Amino acid sequence: MEHVTTRDGARVIRLPLRLFPGLRGYAHLVVTQDALLLVDTGSGLPESNHDLVEGLKAAGDVLGRSVTLADVDAILITHGHIDHFGGLPFVRQHTRAPIYVHELDVRVLSRFEERTALATRDLAIFLQRAGVREERRRQLMEMYGFARTFYRSVPVEGVLHEGQRFAGFDILHVPGHCPGHVCLCREDVMLVGDHVLPHTSPHLSPESITRYTGLGHYLESLERLASFATGVKVALGGHERAMTDVIDRAREIRQRHMEKLQEVLDICREPRTIVEISLARYSRRHGYEVLLALTETGAHVEYLYERGYLKVANLEEVEGDPSAPILYQRIDRPLTFA
Ligand SMILES: [Zn+2]
Ligand SMILES: [Zn+2]
Repeated sequence: MEHVTTRDGARVIRLPLRLFPGLRGYAHLVVTQDALLLVDTGSGLPESNHDLVEGLKAAGDVLGRSVTLADVDAILITHGHIDHFGGLPFVRQHTRAPIYVHELDVRVLSRFEERTALATRDLAIFLQRAGVREERRRQLMEMYGFARTFYRSVPVEGVLHEGQRFAGFDILHVPGHCPGHVCLCREDVMLVGDHVLPHTSPHLSPESITRYTGLGHYLESLERLASFATGVKVALGGHERAMTDVIDRAREIRQRHMEKLQEVLDICREPRTIVEISLARYSRRHGYEVLLALTETGAHVEYLYERGYLKVANLEEVEGDPSAPILYQRIDRPLTFA
């Protein structure tokens, strides 16, 4: 069992989970002097629930006592993505421990059906303007709504805010990858959810689909993490290995986004739709990855457009037909960053 101890003696034990076919990750059990805290719950699929229960058993071996879901005092969700909170309905069958999440993600957990319906509508508008054809659009939206088939809303008892202390951890609000994303920091250990990962650059979507996402918020949140994490020796994410170099990794991800923005500008020497930009940047993608590539490209295009590096090349057409795909073209102006 992989585990770390904070300088002041709290223990964090990693619970490895099979989240979805092809996606693995972690929930974390935090053990302080007077409380057991479960951070994230997995996806809610049978393998994930199974691994969570087995992980707690194994954590009990590390601690020298039995640990089950019934022993958990509080559940904290790092952010409102299904691979992190989807296990809540299952966990709820075994414990009445209160659920905590940042205020901007409360509705995702507690009014899931409503939130998915609205986000799906805004995704449809995004895909249409991006230049995705109707048949393809229908397929992509079906994939997007997949979680609706197995998740049921749960009530949320506790709301997290920036700057709050929770069980000895400082709560840091880092919007971008998800609106209500939080990191938890205690002494030299940080739980970073999906805000920074060691191998993968965390996925981004445009704010036109969900507010408080987008590249602008994300880059600001990377800066926040870097200024907060100076004393951090180990950072544990929701996927992949533990990081001993989280500040360097945050800088590396930032740098990679800068290169991606330049790449988009190069592609947009000629007028291009988001679909065309996405095809030019990524090798052939399949299934859900198509949606990830399109929304990530959308986040980069949105960032550049809002900051005056791109213009709409087919304005007359867009004025005449609000559903017409938008063609973006580079404005001749060098890309600079704060
Ligand atoms: Zn996530
Ligand atoms: Zn995740």
